[in-house]
Amino acid sequence: MICPFCKLKCQYLYTINRFEEPLEIFQCPICKLQMQNTSDPYKYYTKEYFDGTANYNYFDERKYYKYCEYVWNARLKTIKKYKLPPARFLDIGCSFGGFIKSAIKYGYDAEGIDISSYAIQECKKDPVLKNRVFQNHILDFNPTKKYDIITLIEVLEHLPEPQKVFKKLYDLLNEEGLLIIQTANFDGLQAKLQKENYHYYLPGHLFYYSKSNLTKHLKEYGFKQLIYFHGVDFGLIPKLKKMKGFIDSPKYYYKYIRASLYHFLSKVAYKNFALTSSFVLYAFKNK
Ligand SMILES: [Zn+2]
Repeated sequence: MICPFCKLKCQYLYTINRFEEPLEIFQCPICKLQMQNTSDPYKYYTKEYFDGTANYNYFDERKYYKYCEYVWNARLKTIKKYKLPPARFLDIGCSFGGFIKSAIKYGYDAEGIDISSYAIQECKKDPVLKNRVFQNHILDFNPTKKYDIITLIEVLEHLPEPQKVFKKLYDLLNEEGLLIIQTANFDGLQAKLQKENYHYYLPGHLFYYSKSNLTKHLKEYGFKQLIYFHGVDFGLIPKLKKMKGFIDSPKYYYKYIRASLYHFLSKVAYKNFALTSSFVLYAFKNK
């Protein structure tokens, strides 16, 4: 495999055997970007992937809407500090559009795209989303107007040809635009220690970034200023409130303690060192 950014031959790193089809992971010798060798990067995104009935799937946010909203609203509160509504807002990989709906409630002129025709059809049943969602791959998406904010929440790692994606993201943003990426940080000690057992190695996760290589490559593509959130870009309380939707018995209450501990450990970070691999990045086109 060749690093799409450095154009160099990558080194074999691991074979991950916990899935039906083993995943082969390679790493760029220069930027340390890790990648998965796959013949068909789009095969996973079936209806079953979205409604949660496939072997490997996205959780169906429609069943937990009320709980997910805590996190969406908390994130929007942070975004608002940098870009006030009614900025033009695009959520890439929007799935059933929950985050877009929250952004609209917040006053943003929000839209979304997803490659799944099923997810987009489902969105279109909602009168609020009907004219605001498009079935598109980012590289084929050509809107008439640019955006002020673009979000990729746990999406970037799914996208092939990231060098083209970075250029496209830059082009889709207005001059003062803000790009928000949530993905794992492979500079984090969590990924380094857990190696091939790290849960982020999944079918469909094609690229594994780090704080250092995201910084390097986003700057190469023209982004000027970056702000890093180790952990997430919102506080602990909304995260715990979201968890309430998934915890149905007191015997699982220990999970709140574990999540709280993880949240605070995530804040332990200095330069390219971080204890955990949870990570959100805000990249400004100009600032
Ligand atoms: Zn590289």
